[in-house]
Amino acid sequence: MYKKILSILSRNLICFGSRTRHKYERIVQCLSLSMIVVASGLCISIPFFPCLKIEGPKRYTDLENSFYKQDLEHLCSTVVREKPWKYIVIHHSATPKGNAARFDYYHRKERKWEYGLAYHFVIGNGSFSGDGEIEVGERWKKQIHGAHTANMDCNRVAIGICLVGDFENGGAPTENQIDSLVRLMQYLSRKYTIASSDIMQHKQVHQKCTACPGKNFPFAEVKTRLLQIASKRNSHSQEL
Ligand SMILES: [Zn+2]
Repeated sequence: MYKKILSILSRNLICFGSRTRHKYERIVQCLSLSMIVVASGLCISIPFFPCLKIEGPKRYTDLENSFYKQDLEHLCSTVVREKPWKYIVIHHSATPKGNAARFDYYHRKERKWEYGLAYHFVIGNGSFSGDGEIEVGERWKKQIHGAHTANMDCNRVAIGICLVGDFENGGAPTENQIDSLVRLMQYLSRKYTIASSDIMQHKQVHQKCTACPGKNFPFAEVKTRLLQIASKRNSHSQEL
């Protein structure tokens, strides 16, 4: 059947318009004509509709420059009453790759923590989220305690920020991650009146030994940048 149609179709392409006797030939002629009309119509119409461009899936690299435009006011807004946060604790994930969803899965399924993701914020390194992208965890949205240190008293009042990467074993945070971290901490410390001395690395929290956020984390540089931003703001407000 199909072979027959194909052979008729090929004959039709050669002697299109010739008189036909067989009913299959007439059907195929009609179909061929319709297909030609539809195809020509599409070829003519598409150039006149540039909005019909077909876009591929968005890659993280496409978004790289937009992370600096993340509106922190909007990002950090909550629908529940905010807690009076007193400290900020910085972590690394101790994994080369990851994002909030992956850590949430691990903490929920493997560690059996009811509220999942231990941190309030995760800053991506371009592996499974954008390089410098700030992701907000459920614990922040619901304003509940973190699970990011072994000290529960600390977890109740400390905002946990995790940078994706292993900064102890050869890795280091990207520039975008540091930029986003400084921006986020500057915003949070102003909003909750958190002193510079109350911004800590995980290893500084009194608890069992940890290297987190790793020896390659540039804590001094981050602190200096925060102080520079604060002093600029102060001098600007005095000028006004
Ligand atoms: Zn940590």
